[in-house]
Amino acid sequence: MPVTDAFIGLGSNLADPTAQLARAVAELASLPDTTLVAQSAFYSSHPVGPQDQPDFVNGAVWLQTRLSPLQLLDRLQQIEQHHGRERKQRWGPRTLDLDLLMYDDDTISSERLTVPHPELPNRDFVLQPLLDLKADLALPDGQTIAQLRQHCPDNNLRPLPPLPREPFPPG
Ligand code: ATP
Ligand code: CA
Ligand code: CA
Repeated sequence: MPVTDAFIGLGSNLADPTAQLARAVAELASLPDTTLVAQSAFYSSHPVGPQDQPDFVNGAVWLQTRLSPLQLLDRLQQIEQHHGRERKQRWGPRTLDLDLLMYDDDTISSERLTVPHPELPNRDFVLQPLLDLKADLALPDGQTIAQLRQHCPDNNLRPLPPLPREPFPPG
């Protein structure tokens, strides 16, 4: 496989969501045949779907990978499982959700995988992290993420403070 740009959306609203995302970014960065190009800021947002659940923490990463789309989806689902993901309720609370948002300019419509992610245009908590990563990013049909961001519904998106860096050792 050639090296391909892939964008992954991360979300969590259980069991220390910010820590879940930070750990997931490290796990994505260490996938085989894959490098981490950049990670977005983290944001908090109101849940979509059932409202009786905590706010989410969301972010996105830009990967370059030789994994195929389905190999990548398998890896994302493995990482979700390691984070104790349980599927009980549609759009319900979860320790970690990893969505394949875009894979190069590919358009995929199969039983397991739809790319670009179909809800991407409607979710400010996906569009804003993508803008952080690449301000001129566009969908395969040419619509820019910046245009979509201007027109999408408001989920009360708020940037979270940057994660504290590990302190330098004394001396
Ligand atoms: P949404 O897809 O609306 O964000 P969700 O993330 O809660 O909802 P999940 O329960 O995590 O949905 O995933 C359901 C199924 O979606 C997965 O088993 C997977 O096969 C399929 N799927 C289709 N397209 C994608 C994609 N681009 N990224 C991740 N999963 C996808
Ligand atoms: Ca999702
Ligand atoms: Ca998902």
